[in-house]
Amino acid sequence: MRVLVTGGCGFIGSHVVRALVGAGSFVTNLDLLTYAGNPANVADIEGHPRYRFVHGDICDMHTVKDLVAESDVVVNLAAETHVDRSIASPASFVQTDVGGVVCLLEAIRETGRAHLVHMSTDEVFGSLPFPEAAGEDTPFNPTSPYSASKAGAELQLRSHAATYGMSITVLRCCNVYGPNQHVEKFVPLFVTRAFAREPMPLYGDGLHEREWLHVHDVATAVQLIAGMVPFQQPGLTAVHVGSGRRIPNLTVARMICALTGCPADLITHVDDRPGHDRRYAIESARLRSLGWSPRISFEEGIASTVAWYAANAAVWGQAVSDEHLAFSRRQYGDRLRRAGAGVARRLQ
Ligand code: NAD
Repeated sequence: MRVLVTGGCGFIGSHVVRALVGAGSFVTNLDLLTYAGNPANVADIEGHPRYRFVHGDICDMHTVKDLVAESDVVVNLAAETHVDRSIASPASFVQTDVGGVVCLLEAIRETGRAHLVHMSTDEVFGSLPFPEAAGEDTPFNPTSPYSASKAGAELQLRSHAATYGMSITVLRCCNVYGPNQHVEKFVPLFVTRAFAREPMPLYGDGLHEREWLHVHDVATAVQLIAGMVPFQQPGLTAVHVGSGRRIPNLTVARMICALTGCPADLITHVDDRPGHDRRYAIESARLRSLGWSPRISFEEGIASTVAWYAANAAVWGQAVSDEHLAFSRRQYGDRLRRAGAGVARRLQ
């Protein structure tokens, strides 16, 4: 099987690329290498005979069309993904997360062959009251510019399936953690700041609840679906990829402190993110009925993730650019100052 993976130098993409190559597929990784793309994430498979990297943009029809034409399956993982950045600057989210998807759809329609597997998010449903969990047909209620862009992409996918009879699978995934995640995201941010004994900025009361899944379990889900889609009928199928493990952010932060030996009083409650959704939860019976279930418990996965960040600064350190440090200063500098935490060395 020939698979075009977009965003393969990012967090989830790097694991999906490795899983697909390992399972015998020929994989092309199309990645623009934005600030979130880290070539070190896939350095171990560079030179593999079934792997090829192409530096390019999913919004560039010329590049995309040729790559789509030679693929059986397109797995779209390229996106702008950080909610805080979407709040500061929404336009690039619309451009990549909606415009890029339309470009892929148009290229597939013109070349008329490949099945599209698109990665969406549980955030399209917005905050759900306990004990509700979103099923595949629950209506969207996005609240951040990021989740609105992901929902917008899904509406384009639906319209293309209905209008042109295209064959599309949408995966909606819960919160993912594990090796290779960019240091600006919650788990790596807290892990790396715990290593440095720096204040860890926790939004609001920290009781926002997320459903957590290890990235290796996500990669096996994507691999399973990508292997099935060539036999799929035209139309759109949505499949949820979730663990059922819903944990408040404060609990995750305390677990990171325990694993790193960091004093828990460095967890610093700061001004909340505007529009911060309180609780996400999805129901993933459809995927489980296909034989998939998560293999890695959160306790096991968070411990191995901490160990991975401790041992692999040479990989994640590549993402600690001047731009990243400037972003951290903008995002947390004043918040930490207002919380009276003092300003961490890296934020000065
Ligand atoms: P990431 O930010 O780690 O990686 C995104 C990758 O896309 C980067 O390598 C970047 O260089 C690339 N990229 C960005 N714009 C591009 C463009 N125009 N053309 C080509 N490449 C481009 O993201 P991630 O966390 O791996 O997320 C992957 C997908 O999964 C996204 O669609 C995201 O919305 C979705 N998702 C992520 C999570 C999570 O917790 N990480 C949860 C649910 C859904």
